[in-house]
Amino acid sequence: MNYDTLAVLAGLPEDPHGAVGLPIYAVAAYGFRTLEEGAKRFATGEGYVYARQKDPTARALEERLKALEGAMEAEVFASGQAATFAALMALLRPGDEVVAAKGLFGQTIGLFQQVLAPWGIRVRYVEPEPQRVRQALTEVTRAIFVETMANPALIVPDLEGLASVAEEKGIALVVDNTFGAAGALAKPLRWGAHVVVESLTKWASGHGSVLGGAVVVREAHIWRNYPQFWEPDARGQVPWEALGPRCYPERVRTLGLSLMGMALSPFNAYLLFQGLETVALRVKRMSETALYLAEALRGHPKIQALRYPGLPQDPAYPMAQKYLASGGPMFTLDLGSQEAAGRFLGAIPLPKAANLGDARTLLVHPWTTTHSRLSEEGRLQAGVTPGLVRVSVGLEDPLDIEAWFREALDGV
Ligand SMILES: *Cc1c(COP(=O)(O)O)cnc(C)c1O
Repeated sequence: MNYDTLAVLAGLPEDPHGAVGLPIYAVAAYGFRTLEEGAKRFATGEGYVYARQKDPTARALEERLKALEGAMEAEVFASGQAATFAALMALLRPGDEVVAAKGLFGQTIGLFQQVLAPWGIRVRYVEPEPQRVRQALTEVTRAIFVETMANPALIVPDLEGLASVAEEKGIALVVDNTFGAAGALAKPLRWGAHVVVESLTKWASGHGSVLGGAVVVREAHIWRNYPQFWEPDARGQVPWEALGPRCYPERVRTLGLSLMGMALSPFNAYLLFQGLETVALRVKRMSETALYLAEALRGHPKIQALRYPGLPQDPAYPMAQKYLASGGPMFTLDLGSQEAAGRFLGAIPLPKAANLGDARTLLVHPWTTTHSRLSEEGRLQAGVTPGLVRVSVGLEDPLDIEAWFREALDGV
């Protein structure tokens, strides 16, 4: 089945009342009729016990994400940050290293610096090109971490090339696919990535109404190279021998959900499940609008640079053509100075907010907001200049957005 079909049909559970749609299970615990039934659920992990580890509403969302990203397993979390943390905790131990792309999402860098580093996990940043990444790997590198599209530089890395470097070394390629919009724009697992982490808060939700995140995993054999999957668990089982490629997602669920409790609420799971039904439609429309605006505004005398991966002149174009379903819903403008960016943003009647993927067009000035905690040099390295404005295109009429942009540019 194709994406559009899966988006509305995959993951719907059988309902005793014939509900057409996903019921919300606002329930913490699931009972057992007999002692044997309870013992079996605990032994096999099948069925439901307690909503912290697994609950039917979240499970439906997991089944849908699995289908949409072409994965073996998916697990959902309270936020994108929780998903990233759970995915990495299941992979890494003190003494391990991660090779990560320069210019990652700010809080991912924060997680590396303030949470992982004090526990003895080192992260080294390189340009996310296969050759550079290969050179940066050491004996103790256990993961390569990149994003589908760097924000706000809008660079798409060579995912297939990076996956083959990871496979060659027998380590995981982890891709933050938030910008891939739950597979509607990009499917890194299809290109060989082992693990996708993503914020569902953005395009999957689609309405800026709810937080959520996911870890999505393809079937892979690299897990046999990780010592934690050879150590017997509490029951004396060796995870790799007992579970094979499922040992990694099982560990993500155990650590992230059962033990750390970063579970998604059933109500949020329900909203995200519904959001996925229209994500492809929204992203397609947003991409068409973004392309229209990029073409209309390119060369405007007040704009020093306009970046959009869907324009043939853009440096991201070749990789975007290969890995993305369209040019995507994001573009950036450089107005030359902080003052010009401030005038422009002050004049435009659209929300200025540090979020993405909303139904409304959102604008942000990364220099003073999302990237303000980096040094000036760090910001410039990430492609953030004082005059840069990032635009996450919404569902408004393109002609209205264009008119507001032109009016605001006139005042710069
Ligand atoms: C928003 C975002 C996250 C974090 O997700 P939350 O749901 O806000 O916790 C991670 N990575 C990227 C690229 C994001 O845009």
